[in-house]
Amino acid sequence: MSCVRADIVTRSASVDMRMIDKGIKNPWRWEWLEKKVESIHLNECIRKLNKCSACYCVVCGKELMYSSKGSIVLVRHVKSVKHGSFLKSRKDNFALPGEL
Ligand SMILES: [Zn+2]
Repeated sequence: MSCVRADIVTRSASVDMRMIDKGIKNPWRWEWLEKKVESIHLNECIRKLNKCSACYCVVCGKELMYSSKGSIVLVRHVKSVKHGSFLKSRKDNFALPGEL
């Protein structure tokens, strides 16, 4: 994928999320990525960044800040028209991983 970033943190990495998201209202929870929105699991497009309160949409190449509203921000983003149009243009060109 062209938009993979070096600062993406994976669930299996031994990174302490409590340190990355120290002191914010809604610290990162990996369970958020298990949510399904409009037939897409959030883990198909959202990645956690090694950055306080920030995650990343690999479809749009956009950072999302979740400190004030938590997973609502992720869900809203995936439902947004902008994300939908990015997803459509990507689907026309590439298949998402696991979607072959
Ligand atoms: Zn997006």
